[in-house]
Order: sequence, then structure tokens, then C-alpha cells
Amino acid sequence: MREIGHFIGGKEVKGTSGRFGDVFDPNTGEVQAKVALADRSEVERAIADAEAAQPAWAATNPQRRARVMFKFLELIQRDFENLARLLSSEHGKVIADARGDIQRGIEVVEFACGIPHLMKGEYTESAGPGIDLYSMRQPLGVVAGITPFNFPAMIPLWKCAPAIACGNAFVLKPSERDPSVPMRIAELFIEAGLPPGILNVVNGDKEAVDTLLVDKRVKAIGFVGSSAIAEYVYATGCAHGKRVQCFGGAKNHMIVMPDADMDQAVDALIGAGYGSAGERCMAVSVAVPVGRKTADTLVEKLIPRVEGLRIGPSTDAQADYGPLVTRELLEKVRGYVDSGVREGAKLLVDGRGFKLQGYENGHFIGGCLFDEVTPDMKIYKEEIFGPVLSVVRAKDYEEAVRLPSEHEYGNGVAIFTRDGDAARDFADRVNVGMVGINFAIPVPLAYYTFGGWKRSAFGDLNQHGPDSIRFYTKTKTVTSRWPSGIRSGSEFVIPTMK
Ligand code: NAD
Repeated sequence: MREIGHFIGGKEVKGTSGRFGDVFDPNTGEVQAKVALADRSEVERAIADAEAAQPAWAATNPQRRARVMFKFLELIQRDFENLARLLSSEHGKVIADARGDIQRGIEVVEFACGIPHLMKGEYTESAGPGIDLYSMRQPLGVVAGITPFNFPAMIPLWKCAPAIACGNAFVLKPSERDPSVPMRIAELFIEAGLPPGILNVVNGDKEAVDTLLVDKRVKAIGFVGSSAIAEYVYATGCAHGKRVQCFGGAKNHMIVMPDADMDQAVDALIGAGYGSAGERCMAVSVAVPVGRKTADTLVEKLIPRVEGLRIGPSTDAQADYGPLVTRELLEKVRGYVDSGVREGAKLLVDGRGFKLQGYENGHFIGGCLFDEVTPDMKIYKEEIFGPVLSVVRAKDYEEAVRLPSEHEYGNGVAIFTRDGDAARDFADRVNVGMVGINFAIPVPLAYYTFGGWKRSAFGDLNQHGPDSIRFYTKTKTVTSRWPSGIRSGSEFVIPTMK
């Protein structure tokens, strides 16, 4: 059986804790590899190694650091298809979607290539007599990232590329469900010329995370995963004096106004609700048609589309989506559908019993569609993370704005309408971090920032874009007086330079 270790000091090393996790083939349900689960001493070794390597990397000029990013881009393009297949084989998303996962990661590496410009400070000449004032950005030192299973290329790259470009050393703790692509990313960075120790990968679970959270040498933690763990990581990391940003779960609504292009809205709902089997933090899991007529038309159009979804192994180029990552998640999603039925929602399409011929033990579930879901139901309140779409009927626009605004999650939201006034009003008033207008999955591009509101994010800076440079650097401000001969005597009041 293939064994996946850790990546420390520029190479893969075997795990020594004696503990392993299973990496499944979600298509067959079989275990395809064992991943080492680091104990405290292994994580501490990765941190020590990163700490030793970091000062020389920080002293490397930013254009040289950028060159490593440029070279990495070349190498990831070279290996693109192999990486997509590897990613798909552990996650279960179809290969076209795996390509998108890598592509959205690449775009943040492209952003990080601009580091000489991004890290420039500010300068004011003659802020006072002979006094110049300037600020500079310096790296934090050793920083860590803890990432989820659902984007095993994109999110590790969102975290490590800006951090490394800023001159930090990075310890990545990827999801133990699909660790192979993060390990390949580390290898490619070494091939691109990154000094050993600047990107270390420790595989593991809570023990590895807890070690990162309390170790004084780790100055910042970026986390992405479910909200309960995000909150725990945020509280624990902050209590240990770290800079922390944690991105959590979601319940993304899509409002369908009576004047929307219904076919466009249905296409969008099918893709955003069922793509990647719903395992996306920006998946649309709630459709909110406004008015009874809109709801009836929408539901009527959705039913055949959900029934007609093509579910196949992740290698099937024609499949709309593949299996869920683990049997555990499959059972959880089925449990949510059971609970929706118990609570009185109308299950219009039931995918619970779906079996794929030849892949009977794979983690497959058919698309599920609920109508008449209400805000008090568990399937509305909680994130399901599977191919389940809930229709919540709103009687008017005001109710439609209120639903996502009052939900405890606030990651993404969308409105489909032909009315510019409504769209503009919605974008202004809705209490959610990322908004789409006739666009179902509004993941901002790399040079903007990504982040939800409410229980979808803990901390005050977003991921990628300019916020990532702020997060991974500290600002130093220098007040300097030249020439040295200027004398103004001893000043006993606060200098004002007026
Ligand atoms: P998860 O919370 O189970 O795991 C995330 C990370 O935390 C993993 O590295 C895991 O090993 C670690 N972890 C798990 N349990 C832990 C514990 N008790 N203590 C410390 N660390 C622990 O999440 P997941 O299932 O891998 O990913 C899916 C979740 O991630 C969904 O909720 C999804 O919405 C969310 N997500 C959010 C965003 C975003 O940007 N907001 C993006 C992608 C995914």
C-alpha cells in the first residue's frame, strides 16, 4: 500500500508517529493509500526546519522570490494534467472540475509574482524639518496553513503562495483526506528553486493542528474548513498570541426574481448546486424564488434537470459530478435528506438510493431536490455539503433579502434578475460577504479578496488579493532626520511637526 509521509527540509520523509489515516478511492470505496498522521515532535521538527530557513529567504530580494513563483507556474503547467488526475482520484471530483481547482490556485500564484510591487512601502519626504517618514512591510517569520479536503490544490496555493512570496516560511497541514496534491505542490516548489524548509508539509489531524496552534514560533495561522473547527482554531490561535484568519462553512442562497431569465437561472442552479457533488463552500444550496408563480415555474424546470444529472466515476469526462469524498460524508448527506423528509419538506427528487453500476461501493449519491423548505428546518440551518438543493419560497423581495441576511452563515449569495435597481439594492443591503448578480458562484478573482461574513469567517482580513499581503506581513514605520546636524533642543512635548 502506498504510504504518504510528510515534506520537510525539501524532501518527503516517512511518518514516525505510527499513526496513519486512510486515503480512499471515492469511486470504489477502497483504501488507496495510507497517510502518516504527525505527532507533536514531527510538527515541531517541521517548524524548527522552517524557522532555520526563513531569515535567508526573507533576505532574498523580492524579485528573486518572484522568479521562484514564475518558475513554479511553468512547472505546474507542465504537470497540469497529472495533477488534475491525482486530485480527482483522491477527492472524487471530475477531472474538468479538478482542472478548475488547480487553475484557481494558479491565479493566486500569478498574483504573488507581483510581490516586488505588492510589498512596496510608503514614503513621505520632508514630513518635518529634515524629517522623512517611511513604512515597510516585513515578513512575520514562520506561518502555517490548515486546509480542507474540498480544494486540495486551490486553497493550499491561496495560503502558501502569498505567504512565501512575502518572505515567510510556511508549514502546511493539508486535509488528511486528499494529501497527495499538496505534497506534489511542495515538490514542484523545490524544483522551482525554493530553498528547502520554506514550504514544509505535515500531514495529520487534530494533534498536528493543536501543535501548530500553541507553538510560539508560529506567528500566524490561516485556516479553511468547517465553522466549528474554524472557531476553535481562531480562539486557540488568538489565545496563543498569533495572527489568525479562519474561513468556515456556508449556506449560499440564490434569489430568483420574477423577471429573471428562468432558463439562465435554472442552468446556474444546476451547476452551482450539484457541481462537485455540492462539496464547495460557494455551492448554492438554497434557491429562493420570489412569488408563487416564479416558484412553480422554477421547480417545474428544476425537476427534470435534477433527475437527468449524470453521475459517474470521477474519470468519466461526461459526468456532471462524481462521488463524495468519504463514506462518512455520504452517510451524513443521506441523514440530512432523511431529516428534511421528517421535518415536512417536500422531497421532489430523491437521490438517496442511487447506485452506480460497477461502482456499487463508491460514495455516490443522486441529486436531491426539496421544495417548501422553511427556515426552522435543520436542512436549511446547517451546511449539508452534498448535492441537495432546498427551495425556500419567498413571498416578496423583502423576504428574499432577509433570508440570506439573517442566516448564520454569510459566505456567498446571488440574485438573478433583469432589474438593475433590484440588483443594486440587493448588493448594497444583503448581509453576506460575496455577491453574484446573474452569477451563481461569485468567487472573486485573485487580485480581489475572498471572504465571507458572520459564521463563514473569523478574523478581519480576507484571503488572497491585497489582504493576503497585509496578513502575511507586519508594517514597520520609520521616522528619520537628516542631515544629522539639525538640533532643536530637548523636546518635552510630543513631537507634532506642525
Ligand atoms: P474540516 O473542518 O473537517 O477540516 C478542515 C481542516 O481542519 C483539515 O485540515 C482537518 O484535518 C482539520 N481538523 C479537522 N478536525 C479538527 C479538529 N477537531 N481540530 C483541529 N483540526 C481539525 O473541513 P473539511 O470537511 O475538510 O472541509 C469542508 C468544510 O470547509 C466545509 O464546511 C466548507 O464550507 C469549508 N470550506 C470553506 C471555505 C471558505 O473559504 N469559507 C472554502 C472551502 C471549504
